[in-house]
Amino acid sequence: MSESRDPNQITNRRSKFIEAASRGKILANKCAKCNHSNLETVYFCEKCSSDVFTTVEYAGLGDVVTFTIQSVAPEGFTDAGLYAWVVFKVDDAPFKVSGFLKDTHTPSDLPIGSKVQVTGFDEKHGLLLERV
Ligand SMILES: [Zn+2]
Repeated sequence: MSESRDPNQITNRRSKFIEAASRGKILANKCAKCNHSNLETVYFCEKCSSDVFTTVEYAGLGDVVTFTIQSVAPEGFTDAGLYAWVVFKVDDAPFKVSGFLKDTHTPSDLPIGSKVQVTGFDEKHGLLLERV
């Protein structure tokens, strides 16, 4: 599958990513040349610069690497209370992604290395997570 940069294709990739997230999965691009798995948003392989990818799906599960607790809820999340922007390393994948985890009040609520699971995707804020 050859990728081009036309807007429709980008929209398709985004909607596929969102569809996968709604099933609790993370979509990624596996390089057809060197097998390196790249984030879905990457257009050229980080290792060999090829732009030929196949789609792979990872369980949207990973370990918290770092996070920031926000005391002001963003628009659309005013009912969420305190939340954290979490960066987590996806299990079995060579990359990290970030997402939104609600009900995180203090750093002790979320020790580094905690397991989080993708539960969905918010149009404005991105991946939604929950602790597992
Ligand atoms: Zn490659």
